[in-house]
Amino acid sequence: MFKSIIYTIITLFFFYSCLNAQVQIPKNIILFIGDGMGPAQVTTLTTVKNPSNMERFKVGGLLKTHSADKYVTDSAAGATAYATGYKTNNKFVSVSPGSQPLKTIFEYAEEIGKSTGVVVTCEFTHATPACFVAHSDSRYKYHEIASQFVHSDIDVIMGGAKGMSPKDQKEYITDKDDDYLYRELQQKMTIVTDSSEFRAIKDVDKLAFFYDPQVPGPFDERPLSLREMTEKAIEILSKNASGFILMVEGSQIDWAAHDNEIDTLIGEIKDFDEAIGAGLDFAKKDKETLIIVTADHETGGLSLRDGSTNDKKILDVNFAYTQHTAVMVPVFAFGPQAEIFGGIHQNNFVGQKMIDFNKK
Ligand code: MG
Ligand code: ZN
Repeated sequence: MFKSIIYTIITLFFFYSCLNAQVQIPKNIILFIGDGMGPAQVTTLTTVKNPSNMERFKVGGLLKTHSADKYVTDSAAGATAYATGYKTNNKFVSVSPGSQPLKTIFEYAEEIGKSTGVVVTCEFTHATPACFVAHSDSRYKYHEIASQFVHSDIDVIMGGAKGMSPKDQKEYITDKDDDYLYRELQQKMTIVTDSSEFRAIKDVDKLAFFYDPQVPGPFDERPLSLREMTEKAIEILSKNASGFILMVEGSQIDWAAHDNEIDTLIGEIKDFDEAIGAGLDFAKKDKETLIIVTADHETGGLSLRDGSTNDKKILDVNFAYTQHTAVMVPVFAFGPQAEIFGGIHQNNFVGQKMIDFNKK
């Protein structure tokens, strides 16, 4: 009798600890989006950079990227799926196909006291980052999107400043001057535009870094690597004991693929992979951070026709196209709950799960 009671207690305790281990909810999430990064782009990376940080993940899968209205998505509908958990029409920024605002992962996280940030190698008002903060029926309403960022609870913004001036949005009518949004933002956060100033920054709670020029050039012209920017963002956001959500985008993988420029694409995806390394290094130590790496869509219909793994070289490629394609995109995950992202899912599954972890 006594023996069987002890046995029951031990068994219950064992199941309880298993259950507990399974339900660890990530406190922090870092979502890395390689814009235009399909399976061939990842193959390119693993050829030229061995070992790559993407090969450090043990959980991987594929995501179906179609939008609500098109077989081939654009970056706005793609990012809306991750930011809100819903598919929408191309060109829409976190609004439903009927133009109703869809609550974003940043808004959910801010409600429970977490910090949020975007770090990108394009303009911060560009489609991918815009979807995490703003709501609009057009990704091209740059000034309205910038204004929504300035009036949001976001803590870190790093990217080009297009949209901060009303002049950046075609046909936008206002009597406000060019700098009124800068002045408003300055009331809330430290703004830097210079890389040495950026490196000297210490002990700030909110930071905006804006590239000069407004639309940043390719990887070899940018003043800071995406890794440096990501590390700074993590340093600032991780001060919040309640947690944080950070979105980091390798934005110009897409631009290089649109231009069918393989050498630029290689530089961009290496820059992106280095930033992922910073995220993984933090998550390994922290143990409460979920890292997700994925893309919004493939760009260029890239095929790899010759190369050398010994020489780490891509020798012959063919881009079938200068636009986006419908090919599924890779997804890699590390940290608490990483396993659920394995296998084949719809893109908005990732958004739904991230939101589930951040509901009140
Ligand atoms: Mg993008
Ligand atoms: Zn594109």
